[in-house]
Amino acid sequence: MRHLLIRQKIVLLFLFMILLSQAFLSSPQGRPNSEKARFLSYKNFIDKTISPESINRYLKYLTAEPHVASSARNNELANFILNEWKTCGLDDVRLAQYDVLLSFPKEIIVEILSPKKYQLTLKEAGYKEDPDTLRPDVGIPYNAYSCSGDITASLVYANSGNPQDYDLLEKNGINLKGKIALVRYSSPYSYRGFKAYTAERRGLAALLVYSDPKEDGFSRGPVFPHGPWGPLSHIQRGGIPYDFIYPGDPLTPGWASKPGCKRISPEEALSLPKIISVPISAQDALPLLEAMGGKEAPDDWKGALPITYRLGGSQAQVHIKIEMENPIKRITNVVGCLKGSRNLEEFVLVGNHRDAWVFGGHDPSSGTACLMEVVRILAEARKAGFEPKRSIYFANWDAEEFTLTGSTEWGEDNREWIKKNLVAYLNVDSAASGKNFSVRASPSLSRLIIQALKEVEDPVSKQPIYSRWKSGSGEKGTIVVAGEGGKINPIGSGTDHAVFLNHIGIPSLDMAFSGDYGVYHSMYDDYYWMDHFGDPGMMYTATLARIWAHMVIELASSPLLPLDFESYARELENYLNEWASIYDPNGKKSEKLLALIKKMGKKASLITPYIFGSKREEKKHDEETIQKINRLLIEIERDFTLTQGIPNRNWYKHLIFGARYTYAVLLFPALTEAAEAGDENGISQSIIQLEEAIKKATSKLKEISEILEAKNVGI
Ligand SMILES: [Zn+2]
Repeated sequence: MRHLLIRQKIVLLFLFMILLSQAFLSSPQGRPNSEKARFLSYKNFIDKTISPESINRYLKYLTAEPHVASSARNNELANFILNEWKTCGLDDVRLAQYDVLLSFPKEIIVEILSPKKYQLTLKEAGYKEDPDTLRPDVGIPYNAYSCSGDITASLVYANSGNPQDYDLLEKNGINLKGKIALVRYSSPYSYRGFKAYTAERRGLAALLVYSDPKEDGFSRGPVFPHGPWGPLSHIQRGGIPYDFIYPGDPLTPGWASKPGCKRISPEEALSLPKIISVPISAQDALPLLEAMGGKEAPDDWKGALPITYRLGGSQAQVHIKIEMENPIKRITNVVGCLKGSRNLEEFVLVGNHRDAWVFGGHDPSSGTACLMEVVRILAEARKAGFEPKRSIYFANWDAEEFTLTGSTEWGEDNREWIKKNLVAYLNVDSAASGKNFSVRASPSLSRLIIQALKEVEDPVSKQPIYSRWKSGSGEKGTIVVAGEGGKINPIGSGTDHAVFLNHIGIPSLDMAFSGDYGVYHSMYDDYYWMDHFGDPGMMYTATLARIWAHMVIELASSPLLPLDFESYARELENYLNEWASIYDPNGKKSEKLLALIKKMGKKASLITPYIFGSKREEKKHDEETIQKINRLLIEIERDFTLTQGIPNRNWYKHLIFGARYTYAVLLFPALTEAAEAGDENGISQSIIQLEEAIKKATSKLKEISEILEAKNVGI
């Protein structure tokens, strides 16, 4: 009896302690220094609960079948995700569907007619080591949104298919009109849609794009199924829409593709190519290159195939017959929400796409498996008492591979709500193809990134990810955070963050662990590839899930939003100095703007300690004051957007971050494009717009610093 009483007392005491800790965790004000402890136990819970085995199970299921957008399997996966998220305990999970223009092949024939007849296989070889590669249902490799047609023409070799490559052919007396160009996926990377756009403008009739082993095959190392690089027959599928003009459904530029909505005709759609394009393997490119004839190509045009690379021109005659169909199809995003404890309007958005060209081992299913795990553990954490203050939305996008379609339509559909309330968008397109952490981001997320990298350890070395990252592994970025190592890449385009960052002005990032990866958009990018080369044991995918979750926790639960405008101002100063060194060497045009940016940096530096540093826990403000400050912080990146958009492609509204047609980042897009075109009017207009934007941001930063510094505020 006595023993029982003691035991009961112990049980009661234990229950009391649990209740106390729960009250403490969800307590709005907490005790001094409690915020730090709360975050630490929240993150510890996450780190321990994330399971590589669980990620592996998700990946296996997601990659079991080909799942291109709008296919039965991809829709089945949408329902699987919907049900998983409901079972996990998300508050509101729903499908967000849109009816959009997609593009599929019915028939593709490419053959050499002379000097020697040869029909291209347009097929990837199967290997018994990986039974998935022997499946008959992997589909015809193709370029989405290619035109249909039936043409016979002579062949030229145009290196990477960039404008200067065609200049060189013309200098060599080769007439490009009506010809077929064979080009290679190049290093440095340029988007295949830019190659199609360039070929169309130069008057070519068709484009054949192949993967040279110099870039992603045997020259780099062992090839699939014995290594991570592409075998000779691998083919890089992919869309070629001109989404550098606008992404999303080509027939609804700037508005959501809801049933019955207005649609423009395909002829009016500026993002639709008017050229034929077919992706081929190095194996199929070899006989084309052999048949080419003409002058020998310059050294830097030569790949690794055992032939003499020639410019072509007249000798080889090639026949292409391609029949495409472009149906309007229903696509399905899955969007779920973990409601915040405070009923705040602001929210954090986390996303990845689901649709794959074939099995999508790395791209995107490693990212989808990572997202599934992040959802599972954040929901688990809430059951254990760790509630986020702000709502967290999770999105699994569809039809990213076509033209960032699912995310773009959803963004356009919910533009006003997103613009008002979205704190940041964190994207993982593909999670891990190696061990090197890489990130592209808005500078406002710099400190958030660095903090997460310091908190999460490398699964092999057990050192923080930050240690190796700052020493420069895999990073060539420019964004520097004062007092920190490592460099973050400024963010261009190419995946689902575009609508959030470039169109609406939301701080955004896209991150991954990267490594040797030579099977991009081929059928070899499958479970076998991930399991043998990309991330055996899913250790780095699990590590990325931890990094992702840590960032989400900070964004969702920090009293003041962890946005870093001090680093942002420093970046702006660097970008402007760089711009001026080329276009304004005596500084006359950019002088005033530079002074305004410096002023912004000074104001931002006053608030940094309250958000990230020594004063973070020093002074507690009432909820209303914190709300007011956060509203101002949210609006700052929006100030960097232009309602009417940048000239010539007004879907893109961000004044600081844009993308070149190649997908590479384009800093000060309107200003730089005006300068490159020698358009003085455009330059002065862009400078004025930037000055206005910086002034607006600075006055908000000033207001915030005054509130934070005021002695009469707070408790
Ligand atoms: Zn992807």
